[in-house]
Amino acid sequence: MDDFGPQEWLSALRQLESALGPSFERELAPRLRALAAAPAPADPAERLLAALELMDAYVAEQEAHASAATACAPGCPFCCHTHRVLVSELEAVLLVRAVAASPQRKDAVARVQRGRPTTDGPGSSPCAMLGKDGSCSVHRARPSTCRAYLSTSRKACKLYAQGRGPRPDTIRGYPYLAHKMTTAICAREAEDRAGVGGRTYELNGLMRRIFAEPAKIEAWRRGSPTHEPDLVVLTTPAHAPV
Ligand code: SF4
Repeated sequence: MDDFGPQEWLSALRQLESALGPSFERELAPRLRALAAAPAPADPAERLLAALELMDAYVAEQEAHASAATACAPGCPFCCHTHRVLVSELEAVLLVRAVAASPQRKDAVARVQRGRPTTDGPGSSPCAMLGKDGSCSVHRARPSTCRAYLSTSRKACKLYAQGRGPRPDTIRGYPYLAHKMTTAICAREAEDRAGVGGRTYELNGLMRRIFAEPAKIEAWRRGSPTHEPDLVVLTTPAHAPV
């Protein structure tokens, strides 16, 4: 598998720059450049994970200065019951590896095999990655959509999950943009280079399909996704503008 080249990182930097404004050059650009210059993992999924973790660190630092702080905390499960969770193929590679390596593998696989597709709104099936204790069982490998979802009120999330309140307010500024753009750019470029296309899937449906067949589990773990055309939600054409 090939890896990100300088052009892809330049493209990512430019798009983030225009989205984030002046704070970009001061705070984020040096770290992104350092990541781009670091010895590249041969595995595109690992490179995506490194970019996601960099964004997590950036968002956590920025939060200290934000006017609206996030109410999100470990063990708060409400958003994992009220959203259609979408993943890119490389994000799914990270999830498959996390489930397969889980110390509670049997439970994790059983949840995946029972999982019904997640939908938007109260009454959705829970995400199959949600552990019994209300924590994300794949926290380090969780997709960007989860990383970018930052609620301002735990109470509002709870009421919404119970069907007793409106959709909660979320922080839609830099954290959302940074995560969305990083993932869109990095995942698309890496998938393109790995020859797996820019496909997006609903998490539970895809994981259930993968974990129904040992050969599929192995293929995704290796970073060679099988194409599941009937489950594709969205296909991003290679090199299309974000
Ligand atoms: S991947 Fe983790 S954080 Fe995201 S919806 Fe599933 S359980 Fe929640």
